Amino acid sequence: MTDKILIVEDNKTLAKLIAKKVEMSLDCKVDVAYSFSEAKLFLKTYKYFITLLDINLPDAPDGEIVDYALSQGNRAIVLSANIDKDFRQKMLQKNIIDYVNKGGMNDINYIIHTLKRLKKNQDHTVLVVDDSMVFRKQMQNMLENMFFNVITVAHGEEALGILPTKPNITLILTDYHMPVMDGLQLTYEVRKTHDKNSIAILAVSSNKDNEVNALFLKTGANDFITKPFSKEEFSCRINNTIEALENIQIVTNHANRDYLTGLYNRRYFFEAMAQYEVEAAEKGEQFAVAMLDIDHFKKINDTYGHDVGDKVIVSLSEILRTSTNHRDIVARFGGEEFCIVLKNINRYSAVDILERIRSEVENFSFAIENDNYIKFTISIGAVMHNDENIEESINQADMMLYKAKNSGRNQLVFE
Ligand code: GH3
Ligand code: MG
Ligand code: MG
Repeated sequence: MTDKILIVEDNKTLAKLIAKKVEMSLDCKVDVAYSFSEAKLFLKTYKYFITLLDINLPDAPDGEIVDYALSQGNRAIVLSANIDKDFRQKMLQKNIIDYVNKGGMNDINYIIHTLKRLKKNQDHTVLVVDDSMVFRKQMQNMLENMFFNVITVAHGEEALGILPTKPNITLILTDYHMPVMDGLQLTYEVRKTHDKNSIAILAVSSNKDNEVNALFLKTGANDFITKPFSKEEFSCRINNTIEALENIQIVTNHANRDYLTGLYNRRYFFEAMAQYEVEAAEKGEQFAVAMLDIDHFKKINDTYGHDVGDKVIVSLSEILRTSTNHRDIVARFGGEEFCIVLKNINRYSAVDILERIRSEVENFSFAIENDNYIKFTISIGAVMHNDENIEESINQADMMLYKAKNSGRNQLVFE
């Protein structure tokens, strides 16, 4: 989809200001029109990601631009200095995304925030669960207008059936009264496998069921919205819920990863391994544990500086990432020391992969200025995990690493 944006605004200073801020913060192209007639020329030629429309233009004083932009298949955000309630209501009845003030800097920031939100919505799939086809269709329209991917089903059981097949679902919007399985039961069932931080549930209740909202929250819904609701309340609730979910995912990601390389950190390694040990035992999988350390790394730091040392660590982590399977665990334990767990593997294949990593590093040249480059090597100690605990396997791998260092470095020692 195009990510071009059209701004139609007769106040040239304001139009240019918004355009500049949008271009800078969203990294996208912006067209600017100062009148209805100019805007028409643009709208005949291009389809836009979003149009930002002033409803009071010299040659279209009454919001005519909105109908025109919508009729050309564009999505619209209406800009207005007009706070007249009736007019606002009239505008919101049209299929617009939002109606925003354009007075001050805060308003412009709100616009930028909204545009960023809409872009990110494209990564989310919303599951709408409602037995009323009319309501389903209405919510689907509103959500698609906000750039979400939407799937609709008629009751809870259908929703449960579809959930495992669509891993991109991040939000479930569920009605309460439905045949076969109601919204409350659905919430209860979903929470058995997905917590609040992986899939958000927004309950839609009617104002006749006032106790149900509390029940929904206690059962694990993230929020609720009561029918009848305005389009504005709907989009604000949806956006808040999605934003909270994204923020939690960002924070979790930070807590689990090493800042320099983006690999898992030591803390998360042990958390992930505690789970995998159980899984491996259940499935009868074998796995290998390897400890790995850069040879004479101190020399690289001393010769080229700590910054270059950091970059060498980052390039090694790239090699480790690309040489392993997505299920494997690659963690930076600290400094220039890494731990790798190769899952569901026999000794023969593990030796093969680790030996390949060692030789890939040996053949790699790290480019520095003036066409110079740095070469470096790694030593690896590894074991097949037996029935001991993971700490024991790591100790053994560490001992093998020590052997590798003592036997001349740049080698794999597999117990
Ligand atoms: P060996 O072959 O025996 O492993 O020798 P080495 O020099 O690699 O090992 P040593 O443990 O003596 O030195 C590791 C050095 O790594 C010391 C430390 O200053 C440096 N170091 C640790 N963490 C970082 C980091 O995050 N960035 C950089 N640039 N250097 C680091
Ligand atoms: Mg219903
Ligand atoms: Mg070292």
